[in-house]
Amino acid sequence: MPYSERRMVENEKLARRVNRQLEDRVTEIRRDEGADTDAPIQFFCECSFLGCRERLEASSAEYGRVHSTPEHFVVVDGHEVLAVESVVDRIRDFLVVRKRAEAVRAVPEPTDADIDKDDDPTTKE
Ligand SMILES: [Zn+2]
Repeated sequence: MPYSERRMVENEKLARRVNRQLEDRVTEIRRDEGADTDAPIQFFCECSFLGCRERLEASSAEYGRVHSTPEHFVVVDGHEVLAVESVVDRIRDFLVVRKRAEAVRAVPEPTDADIDKDDDPTTKE
């Protein structure tokens, strides 16, 4: 797999991990407060571009459905990279893209230590 594709998958997986933590925390807070846990959450775009800080709105249920397939990621409309992924669905103003399965498998899931590095989109402007 070319380095650039590997890097792109790494970026997407990192964003997905941050989003899952975000989802957990938001859901926990809403549950504590008795708020609606199905209300939309501002997820980070899971596109291939390092440094993308755009957000998209999805409910916890929608997000969970997308990621029941490991090769699927959510991206802001226009952030898809057709050379390495294909668009499989459109939900309002964001897209669901499917990465090549072998590319996804080849890149290990990031750990918390990876998120603590500079790539963490939650610690940057
Ligand atoms: Zn993006």
